Amino acid sequence: MSLSLKKTPMPEQDAIERGHNFKEVTLGYSEEQALIEAARCLQCKTAPCRQGCPVGVDIPGFIGKLKTGDVAGASEVLKGYNGLPAVCGRVCPQEEQCEKYCVLAKKGEAVGIGRLERYTADTARHQAVPQEEAAPAAADAQKVAVIGSGPAGLTAAGEMAKRGYKVTVFEALHRPGGVLVYGIPEFRLPKDEVVQVEIDALRKLGVDIEVNVVIGQTYTIDELMEEEGFEAVFIATGAGLPHFMGIPGEQYNGVYSANEFLTRCNLMKAYRFPECATPIHVGRRVAVVGGGNVAMDAARTALRLGAEKVYIVYRRSEAELPARLEEVHHAKEEGVDFQLLNNPVEILGDDEGWVRQLRCIRMTLGEPDASGRRRPEAVPGSEFELDVDTVIMAIGQGPNPLVQQTTKGLDVNRRGNIVADAETGATSREGVFAGGDVVTGAATVILAMGAGKKAAAAMDEYLQNKRK
Ligand code: FAD
Ligand code: SF4
Ligand code: SF4
Repeated sequence: MSLSLKKTPMPEQDAIERGHNFKEVTLGYSEEQALIEAARCLQCKTAPCRQGCPVGVDIPGFIGKLKTGDVAGASEVLKGYNGLPAVCGRVCPQEEQCEKYCVLAKKGEAVGIGRLERYTADTARHQAVPQEEAAPAAADAQKVAVIGSGPAGLTAAGEMAKRGYKVTVFEALHRPGGVLVYGIPEFRLPKDEVVQVEIDALRKLGVDIEVNVVIGQTYTIDELMEEEGFEAVFIATGAGLPHFMGIPGEQYNGVYSANEFLTRCNLMKAYRFPECATPIHVGRRVAVVGGGNVAMDAARTALRLGAEKVYIVYRRSEAELPARLEEVHHAKEEGVDFQLLNNPVEILGDDEGWVRQLRCIRMTLGEPDASGRRRPEAVPGSEFELDVDTVIMAIGQGPNPLVQQTTKGLDVNRRGNIVADAETGATSREGVFAGGDVVTGAATVILAMGAGKKAAAAMDEYLQNKRK
């Protein structure tokens, strides 16, 4: 049988139907589809795909097990590298990472590594393949605090619990998971079925998770270390502080940050109002400003909340859209209208203070700027108005400054990110480590997990030396 140059297609909900519900868009491979896709992997000795994975997953190793139908074995290989394979299989930007380096991508389509990772993790879960457990921490085990329960914090916590430390995760929100629960929508990443299961597994490792605790307010890091006996701290507070454009009219009712919009919907389940207490206003016509994953998530959420027309307004062209290709493709299929090479200059409102229009200016691409992308330049006199009643700003986020401001001697850069060693996560404060978006700025789930893993190894070494 000749090798197919095409990936086995992923079954999906119909585009029109799914635009009106919050159920997962992609349905996952069947056993037959997974075996067909696994058979495409050439089991390359040099495994170039691995160099594209920030945590170096043994890709031929796990796919090799799948080829023989050994899902439990494949799951064990995966879990050795990646504590959240069901999450990464769904949300990693694979086309920029592992799959970009797959030899098959030179002539056709790469092996669907992410899809097989998801299949393995989901099937192992459905078959109740026994998960790793850790012996309870010894009574005299050293105490480690993890601030924030996103992918960086969860990974570091799991790694430290497996090494025998007594780990407590402090989370400001009422539900652990970070962006996995408050940012990425249910239709891309099911919360109860996927994220909660991973968090339950962490609790089985002995990790204590305390929610509704805001570090910097409820306790400071100095109090945790000096009064509560924590000998090492890992800060993983993410980048949840939204940026606005600073254009006139951002104060009108109907202007949201994507962060607030998505949190209301995902975490507070506003789409089930009044059954759930948090309301959300999404008029008939919505403009989402930005071109990343956050913008796609906000646009597709607005559609599902009943908006008749949803625009993505982005100042560069399609080639520069930072969102994952799959998300752009799905958004288009669902009917999102891409207003590319357009930049908002003002939000116009009515006498009662509600948004009525978004004034934009057309852009053209000039010479490459410092980021290597061609610089967008305004076309004079090309302003026009879009009639909208909601504007959602999705132009980026920075770190919340609370922990940085309340921790003495912690170095931060000019953007407010904590300065930490790229290999160890060590900060300017002894015993305090940091990783994930709070260090790098908004990035990806797998990079945050990689940072959590490296910091855990460094904290282990630090704590062992401290005990000597
Ligand atoms: P977070 O996930 O942000 O977690 C930080 C946690 O710390 C939060 O729970 C927060 O409440 C808590 N916290 C903050 N301050 C305090 C405090 N003072 N005390 C206690 N707790 C605190 N990446 C991908 O790879 N693929 C995608 O498809 C993708 N889509 C995205 C969609 C959206 C809408 C967003 C917002 C991001 C997306 N990302 C995606 C990026 C990815 O989710 C992040 O890079 C990743 O979650 C960062 O992990 P983290 O652990 O550093 O921080
Ligand atoms: Fe690819 Fe992400 Fe899995 Fe690594 S963790 S192999 S980058 S899907
Ligand atoms: Fe398989 Fe592609 Fe990796 Fe080769 S490069 S081992 S074909 S996934």
